Amino acid sequence: MGLHRCVRPFFLTLAVTTLGCRSAQAAVDEPRPADPAVAVPAVPFVPEQPEASEPQSAAPATVSAVPGFLVLAEDPRVQHEAGARDFARAIAAQLDPAFERAQDFHQLEFSRFPPIRVFATRESYADATLSPGGRGSCVLGVVCFSPKLYEQRATLPGVVLHELSHALLLQNVGLWVHNTKIPAWFREGLATLASDGAGAEGCTPEAALADVAAGRGFDFESSVARLRGIPEGVSAYAYYRQTSLFVAWLRGRDVARFHAFLSGLRSTGFQEGFAQTFAATPIECWNAWAESLRE
Ligand SMILES: [Zn+2]
Repeated sequence: MGLHRCVRPFFLTLAVTTLGCRSAQAAVDEPRPADPAVAVPAVPFVPEQPEASEPQSAAPATVSAVPGFLVLAEDPRVQHEAGARDFARAIAAQLDPAFERAQDFHQLEFSRFPPIRVFATRESYADATLSPGGRGSCVLGVVCFSPKLYEQRATLPGVVLHELSHALLLQNVGLWVHNTKIPAWFREGLATLASDGAGAEGCTPEAALADVAAGRGFDFESSVARLRGIPEGVSAYAYYRQTSLFVAWLRGRDVARFHAFLSGLRSTGFQEGFAQTFAATPIECWNAWAESLRE
């Protein structure tokens, strides 16, 4: 899809301290930190807005770093803390392919380039995202990366794609629908599926399918409406794997209808759009999926 036609550099002027708001999507993390969903943002979030007098097609003449960050010289789409320049370069190298793949997988387009923040320490990352164990997260549309990801470099391309997938969905459905209507199981399953399992590395598909078939999967019914975080009693790896396999099953029933479901979420909301697409509730679909695994 036409990435370079539709995605243009856009730079957030939001101070990083406002990233203390908890995003609705969990970070790609292990082990699971204490559920931060109850955290209350200390600073009201002000959504980023394009300059009213400036069309989005106009590239900024200069790029201003948000407080505490530096603009990566080689790729001003990326801002990083002091000491994280090499990490930021590694992130920058993955952005274009990740953008293309995210758009292609979802059959959606970015409306603008999401802000990218690369942190130098796990502590500063945790302070900004409330996700101390994570490798990456998408906080209200701002894509953040922990140095933990640089330490686990083999997972870097997948995690970049995972987080950009969150940002892509958020841009398309809007913050309100994304954070209040779309359950966590769907957002995480979709982003994990889009990134070929990033976030689920510690749980094989075979193990996840066996668990679901045997009734050892995470408690889908009690978490079906959960908007944030990972349910108790399940590892992040298993949760991401099981949800991604379930979303893959839903998608595989009719790929074209699945894409129409995604593109219509902003207007239909999740529950209504799901019912229209699958002629059943998520719980009914989960049970049908589990049953099919036992056949
Ligand atoms: Zn995620």
